[in-house]
Amino acid sequence: MNKDILELDGVIGGGQVLRTALSLSMITGTPFRIINIRARRSRPGLLRQHLTAVLAAAEISGAEVEGAELHATSLVFRPGPIRGGEYRFAIGSAGSCTLVLQTVLPALLQAAELSRVQISGGTHNPAAPPFDFLDQAWLPLLRRMGGRVELQLHRHGFVPAGGGALEAFIQPSSLTPLHLSERGAVIEKRADVLLAGIPGHVGERELARVGKRLQWPDADLRCTWLNQEHGPGNILMLTVACEQLTEQFCAFGQNGVRAEAVADRAIEPLRQWLTSGAAVAEHLADQLLLPMALAGSGSFTTTHLSEHLQSNIQVIEAFCPVAVHCTPAGKVLRVEVVSRA
Ligand code: ATP
Repeated sequence: MNKDILELDGVIGGGQVLRTALSLSMITGTPFRIINIRARRSRPGLLRQHLTAVLAAAEISGAEVEGAELHATSLVFRPGPIRGGEYRFAIGSAGSCTLVLQTVLPALLQAAELSRVQISGGTHNPAAPPFDFLDQAWLPLLRRMGGRVELQLHRHGFVPAGGGALEAFIQPSSLTPLHLSERGAVIEKRADVLLAGIPGHVGERELARVGKRLQWPDADLRCTWLNQEHGPGNILMLTVACEQLTEQFCAFGQNGVRAEAVADRAIEPLRQWLTSGAAVAEHLADQLLLPMALAGSGSFTTTHLSEHLQSNIQVIEAFCPVAVHCTPAGKVLRVEVVSRA
């Protein structure tokens, strides 16, 4: 086990730099010190979601932590052995449950015991993977790599009220390489609107825009009314199942933004992905890197080199014996994780 402390500068990205470092520190046993956490964000330092991720990682690995406080901009994390079991993590705000789960899940795959993890907070947050994205896009790929994980949504939680809850069942498993050069033909597509305490016409207009711009038939457009106590909240999710993988694009209803403009925010990246021919779009790209690094290799094509992809590569290369190569190939970017061992 490597006991030298790894020095990281969080200025290269956002909360993901910290979360990836926590996951890999637990798995490799490498302690780290991070400075400038989320330094370029409007509210720098640890927000509740990030603090919960730190405390969750500390609990499952019996880590010694210095500086785990709200708004802290630096932190030292010294992990111990990973322990599976029953865990409950409450973010205490609408912070993203899925991001906390993604922090601890890779480590719990490596535990000797089964784990059951319950997390409360936001389940459908802007700028984070919605529960449905994990369930339908990310987890199926992780399962193809050998990860044995089941996920349940108990209650929806939107920003700002939160109150959502999810549960994950994680079995010890080791990951194997995955190569995704193509997505394959489209098999099924669907637009889902969720409304909680928001007037029905908002959802109808979002779906009408999708039908018109993407030429999707009414049978592929669905609106679900949630209990208004779960809101206020409105999300539009566009899901495209292909032969090799499923992708999902979403947008959130926002005060002062027309329903049609909200729909366009999901439609545009979906169209870019469809016309690019890339296997995965921006978000799956940065979220597949860590499991591929743990598998020792893997590859995919994506639309472009995002900030998250770049910063995640830097953190992964710092902890793991892998190199990540990004090579433009026509309209797509080929990303390859190779072993340095
Ligand atoms: P910060 O406020 O510092 O940006 P954060 O903790 O919210 O921090 P990021 O570092 O921005 O986190 O990471 C957000 C993660 O959520 C990334 O992995 C990104 O790909 C993912 N993500 C963002 N939007 C979506 C989306 N619509 N669908 C799926 N994943 C998403």
